[in-house]
Amino acid sequence: MKVPKEKKRHCPFCKKHTNHKVELSKKRTVSTAHPLSRGGKIRAKLRGRFGSGNKGRYSKPPGGGKMTGKKQTKKTDFRYTCTVCKKAHIQNSGIRAKKVEFIAY
Ligand SMILES: [Zn+2]
Repeated sequence: MKVPKEKKRHCPFCKKHTNHKVELSKKRTVSTAHPLSRGGKIRAKLRGRFGSGNKGRYSKPPGGGKMTGKKQTKKTDFRYTCTVCKKAHIQNSGIRAKKVEFIAY
């Protein structure tokens, strides 16, 4: 997917169409942003449950018939920075793309 570095978009702060700088921001997953919030393996490890014996669902082979294969594409997450007021806003929904390339016009 080819994306221009600068795009004319509506700025909600200026309330008109202005030039915007397009930047790609990395989407953080729940597990990277809050490593302890979802429980699971990390929390169990912290409690010292990984000494011996059956480890419940972690004793099963990886995959286990569920969640096989991962997605080939990722959703884009662009930040648009207004060149007039220097404020940034995000795109409302990403488009699936394998690779994002910025091109200058
Ligand atoms: Zn603006």
